[in-house]
Amino acid sequence: MADTVRAAVQTGPRAIEIREFPRPVIGPDDGALLRVEACGICGSDVEQYKGSMGGRGLPMVPGHEPLGIIEEISGSAAARWGVRAGDRVAVEILIPCRSCDLCLAGQYMSCKNRAGSHGGYNPPERGLGLWGGYSEYMHLHPNSIVHRIRNDLPAEIAVMFNPLGAGVRWAVHYGGAGLGTTVLVLGAGQRGLSAILASRYVGAGTIIATGLSRDAKKLELAREFGADHTINAEEEDTVERVREITGGDGVDLVLDLTPMAHQPVRDALEAVRWGGTIVLAGLKGGKPVELPTDRIINKALTVKGAFSVDARGYTDAIALIESGQFPLERMHTHTFGLDDVAHAIELLAGEVPGEEGIHVAIVPGA
Ligand SMILES: [Zn+2]
Ligand SMILES: [Zn+2]
Repeated sequence: MADTVRAAVQTGPRAIEIREFPRPVIGPDDGALLRVEACGICGSDVEQYKGSMGGRGLPMVPGHEPLGIIEEISGSAAARWGVRAGDRVAVEILIPCRSCDLCLAGQYMSCKNRAGSHGGYNPPERGLGLWGGYSEYMHLHPNSIVHRIRNDLPAEIAVMFNPLGAGVRWAVHYGGAGLGTTVLVLGAGQRGLSAILASRYVGAGTIIATGLSRDAKKLELAREFGADHTINAEEEDTVERVREITGGDGVDLVLDLTPMAHQPVRDALEAVRWGGTIVLAGLKGGKPVELPTDRIINKALTVKGAFSVDARGYTDAIALIESGQFPLERMHTHTFGLDDVAHAIELLAGEVPGEEGIHVAIVPGA
């Protein structure tokens, strides 16, 4: 094995270059060395790339949805994580302290003494710098959280643990989707499609998905993944169509996964049934959304905010992937090597004319 590691390093807004790092040596109290097989890209990579994190943490290796093979591991990490060299693992972004009150209550995503993150901000004094997934190898901190996933699946499919984890957590764990639940999914990106897959996996009833005219391909995929009805929100009235489909009742569960748009949140209040649940996961860039809150009271609604994904979301998503029940390869549109990280992010952002990405992955060996 080479004694240097190639990684894509973000140095400023829209500035990514390849750099070489010394290959980390794993000591007895270290975590592990991961050979990255694939790393997913999502909307927050786009924001990070454009510079919304400011200069904080730069230069850094981005990539927070990594999948890889444990190449070397310390005895303490092997015992703690229950994995050994050669195992394939999905890596969670956050590196929690595992000791504060929030960690002990299972809410480690909001850990008070976070040790850092894989592909996000890390204190500059922390070690070797290979914390992100857009790299040949990653150094896994001893507090990392990893999940085993079968070695025989294509890396581009296995790496979907991340968007599918969100789909499972938001639709099933937050939204309560289960046998017979009627579900409306607003937004047909990789997370909208993942929410449809998760709902179908747990036996939901009627599933309705919305998108825009430019999402025609995604809506086709939504039907393939189990949506019974799709709505073009630019041409049809979402609320009217949902009432028509549900015999006037509305749906049990609405998920808003649309970025920036305000109308879907108001539509959710009208399209949900009396006593139903709304899960909000589409960020609106910090802008206030005008809402008739009386509708929440008079319809006795439950409205939940969906922040991130937890270990249960990832393990259930991995079970969904390993079940082989769905043609997940249909969602994977693009694979790029390390030299094309910037292009890959721009493609997912919709900045590459004539190309539309749904699930895009960086494969360092590609
Ligand atoms: Zn992500
Ligand atoms: Zn903690």
